[in-house]
Amino acid sequence: MFAEIAFPISGFQTFTYKIPKGLAQEVQIGSRVNVQFGPRKIHGIVTGLKSTSSFKGKIKDITGLVDDLPIMTPELWKLIQWMSQYYVTPLGQVGKAVLPKNLSTRYNPPKSWMVQTNPIVDDEDLEAVKKRAPKQYELYQKIWKAENPLKVSSLKDLASNPLTTCRGLENRGLVTLFEETCLPDVTGFTFDPIHKKVDFNSHQQIAVDAVISALESKKYSPFLLHGVTGSGKTEIYVEAVRHCLDQNRTAIILLPEISLTPQIAGRFRAVFGDTIALWHSKLTQAQRSWTWKEICKGTFKVVIGARSAVFSPLKNLGLIVIDEEQESSFRQDSPAPRYHARDVALMRATYEGSAVVLSSATPSLESYYNHLHKKMTYIHLPERFGGAKYPQVHLVDMLGDQEESGKFGQIFSGLLQDKIEDRLNKKEQIILLQNRRGYSPVVRCGDCGEIVMCPQCKVALTFHRKGSQLICHCCGHVETKQRESCGSCKSPNMKYSGTGTQRVESLIEEMFPHARLGRLDMDTAKSGTGLIQLLKDFSEGKLDILLGTQMIAKGLDFPNATLVGIINADLGLHLPDFRAGERIFQLIYQASGRTGRSNKPGEVVIQTYVPDNPVIKNAAKLDMKKYYNIALSERNELKYPPFSWLAKIEITGENQMAVNSLSEKIAKALNGKYKGLDILGPAPCYLEKLRNQYRFQIVFKSLKSNDPNGKKLHRFIEYNFMDFQKKFRPGQNRINIHFDPLSLI
Ligand code: ADP
Ligand code: ZN
Ligand code: ZN
Repeated sequence: MFAEIAFPISGFQTFTYKIPKGLAQEVQIGSRVNVQFGPRKIHGIVTGLKSTSSFKGKIKDITGLVDDLPIMTPELWKLIQWMSQYYVTPLGQVGKAVLPKNLSTRYNPPKSWMVQTNPIVDDEDLEAVKKRAPKQYELYQKIWKAENPLKVSSLKDLASNPLTTCRGLENRGLVTLFEETCLPDVTGFTFDPIHKKVDFNSHQQIAVDAVISALESKKYSPFLLHGVTGSGKTEIYVEAVRHCLDQNRTAIILLPEISLTPQIAGRFRAVFGDTIALWHSKLTQAQRSWTWKEICKGTFKVVIGARSAVFSPLKNLGLIVIDEEQESSFRQDSPAPRYHARDVALMRATYEGSAVVLSSATPSLESYYNHLHKKMTYIHLPERFGGAKYPQVHLVDMLGDQEESGKFGQIFSGLLQDKIEDRLNKKEQIILLQNRRGYSPVVRCGDCGEIVMCPQCKVALTFHRKGSQLICHCCGHVETKQRESCGSCKSPNMKYSGTGTQRVESLIEEMFPHARLGRLDMDTAKSGTGLIQLLKDFSEGKLDILLGTQMIAKGLDFPNATLVGIINADLGLHLPDFRAGERIFQLIYQASGRTGRSNKPGEVVIQTYVPDNPVIKNAAKLDMKKYYNIALSERNELKYPPFSWLAKIEITGENQMAVNSLSEKIAKALNGKYKGLDILGPAPCYLEKLRNQYRFQIVFKSLKSNDPNGKKLHRFIEYNFMDFQKKFRPGQNRINIHFDPLSLI
């Protein structure tokens, strides 16, 4: 027997290998196998089986199986094939994303050395140690005091090499050493279980009933759960999952943001205990490996996690929930496969016969449009739970405010300052949003205007207060040496302009020195423990103010937070991207939703320089329908999604001229080949140089009226690009295809 095998390489070809007799039963389509590929030993995925091979050269044997359990279900295999075809990505690359190479069911947690004192010891021996080896004695004392055997590695603070020291004690007959398998603790990153007495209101009951009857049908059933902030969407997920488990099926909850994990996990753990697995970027490799293996074995039945949790190897999947479905973090742009977890979830659910709940207070325009066209069952939760009121929103025109006061360049308006003061006095909590991290996003010369740029990207470096560093937010480049003078005119007059969370932080420290402040952004959330501590402190009232980037804007539920301040609502509004307005609307609306969530009324202060902008104006009125109608008519006029299918070809490389000319060549080859298709470009991307790579793009828009299911655009790109490596000889340059890109930046 022979197997066709795909590898995670950029080509679409597969390779033939022989299946040795011993593995004939086990090797199946979708199995991961170990093989020799050129000089390397790598994993491949079996895409086909056949009894003969037409290949004339020497055919190598498969050397073994990666997993000792069959993990590939027919549904997951169909999903991999669909992704490969839809996103024009080789099967091997999709396979690697779905079944990452460092995860296997053969994983065994490492063993650790443990130590305990012997029950009977000779007093003289002990005295001798005390005199001659005081270090050993100290260690002995610690082991003796402990109730249970200790991990030897936990004694590092008492001895530089604790194992050697423990061996010394063992030789004297004082302790016993033994090895033990230590299961990684996978219950962390969770708030203490959050118990609640749940009593559904009538809207919630309708929602729950709808999802339950879909589960009963065991048919693919997509829902749009549109529930205003605070309407109790989480409780709907809990109830749906409960029903799903009762049916002996499994569930996935996708979350957009790591900061949401602990709260939701706390709620789920209270109800479902240890059947819950978390899947996110803060897991250690051991936790990851263990969690994955236990999902395969069926120990975990519910996976709560980020984008890639959509691939969880759960069997008998009944339900997928996508919380805050509009969020761009569900899209993966790099590396390939360039996919959207929401669309993948919908596809997986079709194969599995599951219910899918796309959930949000501010659905994506696409989902909203799909609901208008009856492609999904719409469930509406129009009210906050328990009679909680919507917050009162104040829109502050910063220019007018500053003209009045005569003080320009202020970060806080008088109104926001007063409200903060008021809440601090009342011992109520405050959430402040500034969607930019660092201290100052632009460092420029006060004389000639030159901006300090990243040497690898065409992007300004951001000044960070900690360690006085200049950091590129695109590639991570760090400069620790302060720029004392301008690189161009040598003037020492360097100006730090713009405002990031760190600048706001230092300003609050000055203005409200007694306020207890926590800052949550990618810098402070680097460590998982730091992140969870911060959220815990705020939820337990140990902090007065939580300041942060978009990480704090959605999902979180803090009943005592009665004021939200949006320091600069205009950030990102003017980016040249067709989704810029939609994103800012959603961010403001979601952030506003963090307040007034229980019996205390909430208030929101939105600061802007463009109070008449329709995005800002309607967000301040919390008028989603009005803004979505405006946005939809704009999209219609400009032929953007949801009225068209969008694709983008991105051409990148180190040499600007070469990238440019390759882009021209590709565009020329495409022109005139497909009537009714809008081709824009080639043009340099908005961020035209990133990580030393120049970037050009060609954008394709295929109107839905002409191409109802996107097949024409797909066929066109596939036909012209399947063989692009051969056709265009890109050399060192790369040609990447993005289907349904979220952004054109
Ligand atoms: P959303 O996700 O829609 O913004 P949440 O699910 O966080 O809202 O619910 C808001 C608050 O109301 C939470 O504290 C939640 O526990 C509570 N809540 C919602 N529905 C119920 C219910 N049926 N019974 C008890 N508490 C509820
Ligand atoms: Zn200068
Ligand atoms: Zn950079």
